[in-house]
Parts: sequence; C-alpha cells; structure tokens
Amino acid sequence: MFLQALHLFHFRNYEDQYLRFCAPKTIVVGENAQGKSNLLEAVELLSTLRSHRVSHDRDLVKTGCEMGQVQAQLERSGATIDLGLTFRVTGRRSAVVNHETLRRQFDFLGNLNTVQFSSLDLDLIRGGPAHRRQWLDNLLVQLEPYSAHLLTQYQTILRQRNSLLKKLRQSGDRLRSPEQNTELAIWDAQLAAAGTRVMRRRARALARLFPLAQGWHRLISGERETLGVRYLPQVGTHSPDRWDDATYLHDRFLDAIQERSVAEQHQGTSLVGPHRDEVEFTINATPARQHGSQGQQRTTVLALKLAELQLIDEVIQDPPLLLLDDVLAELDLYRQCQLLEAIHDRFQTLITTTHLQIFDPQWLRSSQILTIHNGSVQESST
Ligand code: ATP
Ligand code: MG
Repeated sequence: MFLQALHLFHFRNYEDQYLRFCAPKTIVVGENAQGKSNLLEAVELLSTLRSHRVSHDRDLVKTGCEMGQVQAQLERSGATIDLGLTFRVTGRRSAVVNHETLRRQFDFLGNLNTVQFSSLDLDLIRGGPAHRRQWLDNLLVQLEPYSAHLLTQYQTILRQRNSLLKKLRQSGDRLRSPEQNTELAIWDAQLAAAGTRVMRRRARALARLFPLAQGWHRLISGERETLGVRYLPQVGTHSPDRWDDATYLHDRFLDAIQERSVAEQHQGTSLVGPHRDEVEFTINATPARQHGSQGQQRTTVLALKLAELQLIDEVIQDPPLLLLDDVLAELDLYRQCQLLEAIHDRFQTLITTTHLQIFDPQWLRSSQILTIHNGSVQESST
C-alpha cells in the first residue's frame, strides 16, 4: 500500500496543509515543537482510529477551532481509497471511506496498516504491563480489524461488572441477595466469554510473531543472544495446544473468578481477565525488563518492530507503512543499518528527525525531504 497524499485541516498545529508523498521514504525534518509528531499522529489515526498520545479528540482539534480533519488518498492493490476523519471538540467523530460516511467506525479499520516505532516504544520493555497489552492489541487490530470490536466489548463488560462489584462492596458485610448473586453470575459468564475471545487472539498473534522476532533478534545481536517471548495470562493454560479449546478456557476463566471471589468482593473490582495479562520478554532466559541493558532493550524493541512489519505483510499480503518518530538517532549505527536494510524499499516509511546529518548521504538522495516549520510544510532538496 502507498499513502499518496494527506490533507490536514485544523488538525493540531496545522491550518490547512496538503502533502504529497512521492518516494518510498519521506524524511520529515524540523526543530522541536514544529509539528513532526503531529503529522505521524494523523497517519496513526487513519490506521488505528487511536492516538497513543491523547485520549480526547478535543486535543486533536486546532486550538480555537470547533473541528479538525485528516484526509488521505491511499493506493492499495491498484485501487485508490479516500479516507477521511473529522474530529470535534464535542468528541463526536465521523469517519468517511470513499466519500461514504460509515455508520460503524470499526469499518474504517483495516484500510491503512502501519507499524509505529518511536522512542516511547522502549517502554514496551521497561514500562508496566499496560504498555505491552496496548502494543499487542494494536497488533491484533492490524491483523484482524474485528478484534477492535471484541476488545471494546470486553471493556464494556468489565466496566459494568466492576461497577456492580463496587456497589456490592459499598453494601458492606451484608449478605448478598439472590438477585445480586444472579446478576453477578451473569456478568461472570459474560466476562469469561468475552475475555476468552481476547486471550485466544492475543495468544495466537504472539505465537505467530514470536519466531519472526526471534529471527531478527538473533541477526541484530550477532547470534549472541536469544529472545524469549511468553504470554502470561492469569487465566487459562500454559500449554499452547489448549488455546484451541474455547470451552476449556472459558471454564478455567470461571474457576479463576471463583478462586479470587473473596478478594474481588473486598477490593470491589475485577481481578481476573485479559485486562491483567502480561507479556514477558527474556534475553538468554533472563527477564529483559529488570535486567536487560539499554542496548539489549533497544535490540529487543527493534526486533519486535521488524517482526510486526513482516507479520502484517504476510497476513494481509500487502506491506504496511512504517512510522519512525525520532527514533533513528536513538539507535547506534549498526542497528540503524539493520533497520534501514530490512525496510529497503518494500515498506513506505515516514521518518521524523531534527537533524538530517544522522542519515547516510546515499539514503538522503533517494528520499523525499519535507521541512516543517510551525505547522507549515515545504518540500526541500538536499
Ligand atoms: P519534537 O521534535 O520536540 O518531538 P515535533 O515537531 O514532533 O517536536 P509536535 O509534537 O508534532 O512537535 O508538535 C507540537 C506543537 O504542536 C506544539 O507547538 C504544540 O503547541 C502544537 N499543538 C499541539 N496540539 C495543538 C492543538 N490542538 N492546537 C494547536 N497547536 C497544537
Ligand atoms: Mg515529536
């Protein structure tokens, strides 16, 4: 797929900016706070409907305006797709594909596939488990857009079950009424059903990603290190073959709820389920989170990102875009070369940087270079 053009209107610090992409690699250069990450964020939104930087649409709309827009023209398998998103201060959003406004925004997903890599991604290794869950869910949605629906469904059930548990806790030590028990049992069953679906998809995606990540990791570490990736759900199974057995998992989920029921009642919140999952990375069998050096953590993230690119490419049979936000300068020359070699010209890549000097001159000559100043973009030549 190839992103041909982008139009930013009252989006972040952009007034009305039209951009055309004409090379497999586009380098976006500019000083701090000029709008480089904002541009990549616009592409991220078109791809995932989410921004990893904010949770409210009002932050995406240019200050002082009521609404902002991001539009794109995408070439995919010989056809052109027009995509458009409108963000409003009120929070109401609309999504348009080929001039048709979608009734369900989930239908927007799956048009544009991206893999992002920013300096924040190092938190994937050293940050808390929520980072790893978010990363894995993003990958799921790229591989199977329907997962977005399942994830939302799970979150909705979780919220409702939590509010019931909270209510029960507030009623103190009084015995629960039969109605309350029935209500809780209904939510238990729903949580187990939706949770099992999420866990099975997560396990499946990781199992596919793992060998690819391991291969890249071996290459980048010069065969010296072995990467391990383990999905650690609290519920279920540690034997991979049982992931195919939905009924078995569903029953284990209910068992786990039963086991933690006193604690749940005490804390007034759901303690079991995919919202508490963990993914563990190890390097030579040692946990990377606590013991990995910075270099090892970078190698691991780089290997994961390259594996994501490769997996999405294999599954959807079309190379996704790669968004590199300020990350090349964080990698040493050897890792930069590994990354650039792996991308080659197969993956359209948008790269932001504050300095062009870090790039190989030959590389610069084959790239499109855009200079950003205060939300305004100029095409430059080297
Ligand atoms: P750095 O090199 O530091 O990462 P950058 O070029 O990536 O910088 P961005 O994060 O893209 O910077 O842009 C930040 C600029 O956008 C800031 O000046 C900020 O004030 C402005 N900005 C962000 N949101 C809005 C908004 N809703 N309305 C107007 N301006 C905004
Ligand atoms: Mg930035």
